[in-house]
Amino acid sequence: MNYRKAYEWGKTRLEVACVPEEALNARLLLEHVCKTGHNDLYANSERALSADEENEYENLIRLRVQRVPLQHLTGHQEFMGIDFSVNRDVLIPRQDTEILAEEALIAVSDSDRVLDLCTGSGCVLLSVMCYKNNIDGVGSDISEKALEVAKTNYERLASRINGRVSFLKSDLFESIGGVFDVILANPPYIRSTDIGLLMPEVRDHDPRMALDGGEDGLDFYRRIITGCDPFLESEGKLIMEIGFDQAGDVIDILDQNYFADIRVIKDLSGLDRVVYARKEK
Ligand code: GLN
Repeated sequence: MNYRKAYEWGKTRLEVACVPEEALNARLLLEHVCKTGHNDLYANSERALSADEENEYENLIRLRVQRVPLQHLTGHQEFMGIDFSVNRDVLIPRQDTEILAEEALIAVSDSDRVLDLCTGSGCVLLSVMCYKNNIDGVGSDISEKALEVAKTNYERLASRINGRVSFLKSDLFESIGGVFDVILANPPYIRSTDIGLLMPEVRDHDPRMALDGGEDGLDFYRRIITGCDPFLESEGKLIMEIGFDQAGDVIDILDQNYFADIRVIKDLSGLDRVVYARKEK
């Protein structure tokens, strides 16, 4: 099979199976297998695939037809212009979460101490640290396997980071020490009963513990907002990703817990996506 034929074949297989973005998925899987780039489809379309490449590509297309996420097949996801390693132990970084990282970049000053709860792949904390100087960053997660991924990502990015990073296993604040200028979190926030309604890639392949926010989806916001006081400086900032319909409820919890300057930031689809709050003096 030549390169273009492989692409067309994969695209058709994915299209017939109703996999969204079939052309993009076929191209990215082909490039992953052949270690090629975007231009090869046009510049090198006659290139013959080796038998190994052909086998691997067919296998990956088959898995994608079964709705294994593209990122689990390639092992990568770009976030904030940075390449992150991912696997089934972490939530795949979402484009929506770049709103949280962007808000963090506005709120965080060089040399701040930053805590990232539910860090997962580490994408939020590490991207802030790549773009700021001298941050003292702590990423925590309840999942040891997630922390392994975060540490791998740190090692890959270490030359771009000039602050201090540590990753630590903790159920939210349970094992956290110290006081922070900024606390970030993209916690699980899907209502337990809604998880079955998500796309198969998310429902069957993202870690359930990274999605499930309890009966009303708000469990982690309650625990973070009521538990953060000893760990947040006076006037420190708490910035969290939220579900599109959770702003009102999360603002209520913040209001009841002495936070000021509460703002909601929308994502690129115009949906509520991030809340920012500052601890009162
Ligand atoms: N936004 C994620 C999704 O699309 C949910 C992530 C989370 O619960 N933090 O499923």
